[in-house]
Amino acid sequence: MRRNTFLTAPIKGVEVKRSPVNQISQKRRKLMRERRAMLDETFGPKEEWQCSIPPMGITYWGECYGEVNGHELRKRSAGGSITDPENVVLLCNHHNQMVENRPIEARALGLVVR
Ligand SMILES: [Zn+2]
Repeated sequence: MRRNTFLTAPIKGVEVKRSPVNQISQKRRKLMRERRAMLDETFGPKEEWQCSIPPMGITYWGECYGEVNGHELRKRSAGGSITDPENVVLLCNHHNQMVENRPIEARALGLVVR
């Protein structure tokens, strides 16, 4: 991109003042706030969150490990909502990784919806 290189190249003796780049869009920030509120309302305080796997009786995926977070049954990329409580279950890091690594099993268990 020769043109951009030219436009952004520093010029000796000229101080360029730029405002910081917005890493997260306002829209995305608002969505994440809504998600946070939904998770608080649906599951209570984060310190009390429990992984959904043990109550499902799934022992062959091993024991829980790591932080518990919300997992979307239908991914955003598949049109799933991250603010719909019906689309979110709680998973520990280990079981979230199992869902990623074993998509066929995860789908059979209802943890992945397409
Ligand atoms: Zn777990």
